[in-house]
Amino acid sequence: MTKKEGKLIVFSAPSGSGKTTIVHHLLKQDELNLDFSISATSRNSRGEEINGKDYYFISAEEFKNHIEKDNFIEWEEVYTDNFYGTLKKEVERIWELGKHVIFDIDVIGGLNIKNKFSENTLAIFVQPPSIEEMERRLRGRKTDSEEKIKERVAKAEKEMKYAKDFDVVLVNDDLDLAKKSAYNLVEKFTK
Ligand code: 5GP
Repeated sequence: MTKKEGKLIVFSAPSGSGKTTIVHHLLKQDELNLDFSISATSRNSRGEEINGKDYYFISAEEFKNHIEKDNFIEWEEVYTDNFYGTLKKEVERIWELGKHVIFDIDVIGGLNIKNKFSENTLAIFVQPPSIEEMERRLRGRKTDSEEKIKERVAKAEKEMKYAKDFDVVLVNDDLDLAKKSAYNLVEKFTK
């Protein structure tokens, strides 16, 4: 698949909106021919995350090295001292497999991809039913400290304002329905 044929499917949302669950669901549907864009990050792995599957976990120094060499399509300091970015060679890897690329990235990163590859990108904003519900989900996940949760909630409030810049807003108040809608959107776009 070439740059012209390969599609980019971006899922962005405040964390706790359920976007990762939706992305994992789509990746299991072989007929959609998707592969996950593994981001590089300088944050530590948490829970069951696997290096080279969920993220490429690298040091802050290595991350800065990649920035200097212009190896990223986009990168950001999503949270203080925690860098995240999409390596150019990651997208090339997936297109070489003949697959479409699916991204689980933050709102600004998602819009940067959409602007860079406007022809072949579908950018979907997953909206939690409310900030209160999102906060409840983050607490239920039990992976973040209280301070981190507060930081994520504050960021989410800002991110909600960007929903209108995406191609589609998918409200996730019923997960099964959201999964079905996401499937239909991706199927139609990649056909
Ligand atoms: P988490 O630490 O919860 O895995 O991710 C924090 C945020 O960073 C999430 O919104 C996630 O989607 C976003 N993120 C993950 N990878 C990238 C990336 O490559 N670029 C950008 N801009 N954000 C990313």
